[in-house]
Amino acid sequence: MVETTEKDGTTWYKCEKCGMLFDNREDATQHEASCDAEEPSYIQ
Ligand SMILES: [Zn+2]
Repeated sequence: MVETTEKDGTTWYKCEKCGMLFDNREDATQHEASCDAEEPSYIQ
């Protein structure tokens, strides 16, 4: 499930699986649906 985070007045959407951040909920949802990361890695 995509997490939401607020930073500097902007809402970010985070993939719960790998920690990648998106500024768009649709992008995050689509990414997460195909994300196969098993553990958070916080790759930037
Ligand atoms: Zn991911």
